[in-house]
Amino acid sequence: MELLNLLLKLSSRLHSVVYTRLCESGNARVFRLHIYILIYSVLSLLNRDLEYLKACILAETFYIGGECQSSGNCCSGIMLFSNGYPLDTVAKFQDALSKDFKYQRFNYHSGAAHRIQSYDCSQLSKNNRCLDYENRPDFCRLYPYSYFIEKGFLRSGCGYNVRLRNSLPIFWYPPLRRYIQSILLTQSF
Ligand code: SF4
Repeated sequence: MELLNLLLKLSSRLHSVVYTRLCESGNARVFRLHIYILIYSVLSLLNRDLEYLKACILAETFYIGGECQSSGNCCSGIMLFSNGYPLDTVAKFQDALSKDFKYQRFNYHSGAAHRIQSYDCSQLSKNNRCLDYENRPDFCRLYPYSYFIEKGFLRSGCGYNVRLRNSLPIFWYPPLRRYIQSILLTQSF
């Protein structure tokens, strides 16, 4: 933990120094990205949980453009998550529901062995508008950013798309390189 704090402090210090010297934000971004990649790669070797660093790397590498096309894609035929884990069984869904009533609005489609394949939100109107927009859950408010950070892709047809911010730096740490390459393959640039 001390090493992690030290590296994060170092990266933020280096970032602030470089940021003030660089007038072109793109360069600062690339530098910051390299620092994240370096820290991620070192800490990965220590078997640390680095989801937050992965999120930083994604946010520095890609951005999300486009706008909502009212496809309803983010509200029906979806999988729900709780603490990063899919609610893919009836038991998990009922447990999540007992702790958080926001799940109440979702109806599930189950298959064999009480496994849930997808959910539809009951608050989606026939013309794909949210009927409870003011009170929609946080994961609806944060869509599509949270979805992309969590899954590494966006569903097609919703109007949003993933784009590269700059030319790609060298992701020399193999697992990270494979992860970024898988995103490049699944999204069209
Ligand atoms: S609450 Fe609204 S935005 Fe969220 S899934 Fe339901 S219809 Fe979509």
